[in-house]
Amino acid sequence: MANSPDSPTSTLSIPAVPAEAWAAAILTIDLGAVVANWCLLRDCVAPADCAAVVKADAYGLGAARVAPALAAAGCRRFFVAMPDEAVALRAVLPEVEIACFGGLPAGAEAVFREHRIVPVLNHLGEIARWSAYARRTGGPLPAIVHLDTGMNRLGLGPDERADLAEQPERLVGIDVRCWISHLACADQPTHWLTAAQLGRFRLALAALPPAPASLANSAGIFRGRALRFDRVRPGAALYGVNPTPESANPMQGTIVLEGRILQVRAVDRPMTVGYGAAHFVARKGRIATISVGYADGYGRALSGRGHVFVAGRPAAVVGRVSMDLITADVTNIPDHLIQPGGLVELIGPHRPVDQIADEAGTIGYEILTSLGRRYHRRWLEPGTGAE
Ligand SMILES: *Cc1c(COP(=O)(O)O)cnc(C)c1O
Repeated sequence: MANSPDSPTSTLSIPAVPAEAWAAAILTIDLGAVVANWCLLRDCVAPADCAAVVKADAYGLGAARVAPALAAAGCRRFFVAMPDEAVALRAVLPEVEIACFGGLPAGAEAVFREHRIVPVLNHLGEIARWSAYARRTGGPLPAIVHLDTGMNRLGLGPDERADLAEQPERLVGIDVRCWISHLACADQPTHWLTAAQLGRFRLALAALPPAPASLANSAGIFRGRALRFDRVRPGAALYGVNPTPESANPMQGTIVLEGRILQVRAVDRPMTVGYGAAHFVARKGRIATISVGYADGYGRALSGRGHVFVAGRPAAVVGRVSMDLITADVTNIPDHLIQPGGLVELIGPHRPVDQIADEAGTIGYEILTSLGRRYHRRWLEPGTGAE
């Protein structure tokens, strides 16, 4: 047989069995769910405009697929964090507004202008540089200006805002598309700092030249109409992270991560499992070895804490998470469900992102942005539910 697995030519031909059938782990990304989440937020905040934050490769899901799907659904404004992300996104989306949170690096002005990237200007030095560059190149250039209202991370602080309010000519050549600020505590339903930031933002806006304003991230959208202003900037909620951690998640899950069972082995006391002999086998049972590890973003913190799901039934991750493998106690799962080659759910309907984040001692954001590069990625297109 020309295409038998042992044939030297077999690697050159298209495999008869699709990669999904043997891939070590499969990440299914439901673009329809991402779009549905954006539409829910859009309808919720209307008439305010709903942008989309697609930094960090759309929180690990893949900006090159996510952003066009959102643009097709009507999203017109996108935010990334780094210049390289902005340039890459511009290559995919020629028409939309692309803004870059990380500011305007010295020397990058021409790249921003060439690719029509809107810098988020975070201090007076960047404003001076963009203004000078605009005057030199003979035309107004767009920018978003970030006002810091309490995060103390990026943005113009009170003194810089006062200077700008007194000397609006510092903005000559700059087309201010939006004043933004960022909330530090919107994930908590009521927090004194949210109210304080809102007050400071309003005061700052009143003193500055008029332009649209934007304050709310995902959680901010759910903390009252007053926070929505003209535009909102959700990221995490688009990808299914709960923007209201104190109550049920209004968003849809967007990913399913499945790992493959490589072996199932019988164990009994006094054996141990894995590195460091960290797991002591207490009784006769079975261990399934699954081909996902910390190199894939299945964090080492999940050692002895995580769960995998086999046909909806939980199995505890026992022993240490290693680079490419985890081990789960499948003693209580019927044999026929745990055959080598079978798939188990690591993230999905039985283990939403926020829950695995809890187990790992982190937040859903970090689980998503750590999603590995070795996964076989399947895309479910909006509307069709198919690839
Ligand atoms: C990341 C980011 C967002 C989006 O935040 P989410 O909590 O993911 O919705 C909005 N604004 C700024 C400035 C950000 O850095």
